[in-house]
Amino acid sequence: MARIAPLICLFISLFATIPGIGQTKLDSLLPVRGFCIAAPLPKQLDAFIQFINEELATRQVNTLILRVDYNYQFGSHPELRDSLALSKREVKKIVKACQKHNIRLIPQINLLGHQSWASKTGNLLRVYPDFDETPSVKMPEKYIWPNEDGLYCKSYCPLHPGVHAVVFDLVDEICDAFEADAFHAGLDEVFYIGHDKCPRCSGRDKAELFAGEVTEIRNHLALNNRKLWMWGDRLIDGKTTGIGMWEGSFNNTHRAIDLIPKDVMICDWHYERPDQTAVYFATKGLSVITCPWRKPGFAVTQTQDMVRFRKSVTPVMRERFQGMMQTVWSGAGPFLDEFYGKNAAAEAGANTPSNCFRAMFDEIGKLSTTP
Ligand SMILES: [Zn+2]
Repeated sequence: MARIAPLICLFISLFATIPGIGQTKLDSLLPVRGFCIAAPLPKQLDAFIQFINEELATRQVNTLILRVDYNYQFGSHPELRDSLALSKREVKKIVKACQKHNIRLIPQINLLGHQSWASKTGNLLRVYPDFDETPSVKMPEKYIWPNEDGLYCKSYCPLHPGVHAVVFDLVDEICDAFEADAFHAGLDEVFYIGHDKCPRCSGRDKAELFAGEVTEIRNHLALNNRKLWMWGDRLIDGKTTGIGMWEGSFNNTHRAIDLIPKDVMICDWHYERPDQTAVYFATKGLSVITCPWRKPGFAVTQTQDMVRFRKSVTPVMRERFQGMMQTVWSGAGPFLDEFYGKNAAAEAGANTPSNCFRAMFDEIGKLSTTP
């Protein structure tokens, strides 16, 4: 038996490299093998499509989340477009590249939170200031954290009677353009919710407000048979776990984990430690994907954990451990420069998103050829 073992290994690794057979093994190891990045600007489109063809497809990435926000020439609300934004024709080029490689393409617009960044108000609240949860908080000329207002990012008021008509137009239009069967709504790092001065939200339970918004978005998407994906941090108790106020919640939204529909996909990001909160989400009945950023060692551990969870749990739980997704928080252009060594940040050392991406997919490849 010992003598034929290497032959068996050779046989398995040979089959793992043949498209179709290897694909099945990979799908069973990790159903979702994802990559998340800002949508490219129009001038970066060709380079980005080349990256899809040469780097994502070859690593058998099967899910691409593009953070679009207002980088699209919306017809339903032209007033919300960025000045430089992707046209429908340009988006179709991305759609075609992804279809060629069987990559599921999921667009993202940040809903609820992240309606401003540093001292800049995002397009939604700039054009529709009435939707602001905290109109009394003025944007600073020079943003610093921490600050007296506790301003990280602005939120829209989830109970404003006009907000959903506008944002759901955008959601529908972008899902149509990207030919998507799922939409990522962001929903991370919502610090302003149920604010004391909001005439609609003050005094309300923040977990119920958060869950109400998640449910409303989920139900809207369901009208077109689309699924909701979201970041998981607001559903983790940041105090009790010691995970903190960024990767967890300090304002009691975490109880929403028991209030949201179970068919929402949770993207569980942890960048400072390989926290094993995927188990928590799965135990609550939610499907979950673990997301690293720029620490290759953690990405490898998180990948091994995800595979181990899938092997060690009941069949009911197994289906909820859906896989891994590399997240990139720079724009597509700077990431491609870093990836191809054109603009390597020396001070970052080995801890870069491109190194993390390579390490995670190397590990997935390794595990998929291990008998
Ligand atoms: Zn409100």
